[in-house]
Amino acid sequence: MEDSGKLYIVATPIGNLADITHRAIDILKQVDVIAAEDTRHSQKLLQHYQIDTRLISLHDHNESQRAKQLIERMQKGLNVALISDAGTPLISDPGYGLVNQCRAEQLDVIPIPGPCAAITAMCAAGLATDKFRFEGFLPVKEQARQQALELLLEETATCIFYESPRRILDTIKLVGRVLGNERQLVLAKELTKTFETFTSGTAEQIEIWLREEPVRQKGEFVLMIAGMQRDMSNIPQVALSLLKNLMQELPLKKAAAIVAAHYELKKNDLYKIGLDLS
Ligand code: SAM
Repeated sequence: MEDSGKLYIVATPIGNLADITHRAIDILKQVDVIAAEDTRHSQKLLQHYQIDTRLISLHDHNESQRAKQLIERMQKGLNVALISDAGTPLISDPGYGLVNQCRAEQLDVIPIPGPCAAITAMCAAGLATDKFRFEGFLPVKEQARQQALELLLEETATCIFYESPRRILDTIKLVGRVLGNERQLVLAKELTKTFETFTSGTAEQIEIWLREEPVRQKGEFVLMIAGMQRDMSNIPQVALSLLKNLMQELPLKKAAAIVAAHYELKKNDLYKIGLDLS
C-alpha cells in the first residue's frame, strides 16, 4: 500500500561482526523501529555500527501479539526492520507469522540478504550443492529424531541440519545408526569465528573426532550429510541413455516402464533414477 511503511528482513552476522552489508546498516539506521529476538544481544551489533534506532523484542513467545502491533504501526506509515540473533531472520528463527500477516495485509516486505549459517557451511563443505534439503533442527524427542532421519534414507540431495552443542554427539551417533556408516558427513563449527573448523568423514569418524577433545563438542554447528548415492552399476549405459531421451518426450512413469520392459530391469528402480535425473 502506498502510504504504508515497509517491513525489512535484515540479515546480520553469524559470528564475524564485519559480515554485514552496507545496505543492511543503512536500513537499520533509517527505519523507525527494529524488532529483534533478543534486544540485549542485538544492542552490541547496533552499538558497533553506531545505529541508535529503537529496539523492541519479537520472539517465539510474543510474535503474534507483536506482529499485530507492528502491522498497525506500518499501516500508519512507520518502517520496521526485523533482525534475529544471528544470520537471516525466519531461517530457524522467528518472523514467519509477521511476514505472513504483512503479506496478507498487502504490506511490502523487503529482504536485505546476508549471512545464513546453512549456506555459509554448504558453500565450503565440498558436498554436492546442485540440490540440497534444509531440515533446520532435528526434533528433540528421540523417537521423532529417529523418524525424521528415516525419512531421509532415500534422499539424494545434500541434507543440512542445525545442531546445538548439547545434542551434537547424540545426533552424529543416531545418523550413523539410521543412515549407515557409508554416508559422507561434514560438520562445520563456529563459522566465520576464530576457531572455524570443517571436519568430514563418516558418522563413526566424526564421533571419534568429537570425543577426542570434548571442547570440540562446544560451539555452534551445521551438520551436512551427503545424499544417498543410488547404485546404478547394474543398469547398462544404453538403458540410462534411453531413459534420458524418453523422459524428454513422455511422463517419467511411462519412460521407466518402456526401458524396464526393453532391458528386463525393475520399473521402480528406473523411476527413482529418473527422479534423480530430472
Ligand atoms: N537464522 C540463522 C541463520 O540464518 O543461519 C540460524 C539461527 S538458529 C536459531 C541457530 C543455529 O544456526 C545454531 O544452533 C547453529 O546450528 C547454526 N549457526 C548459527 N551461527 C553459526 C555459526 N557461526 N557456525 C555454525 N553454525 C551456526
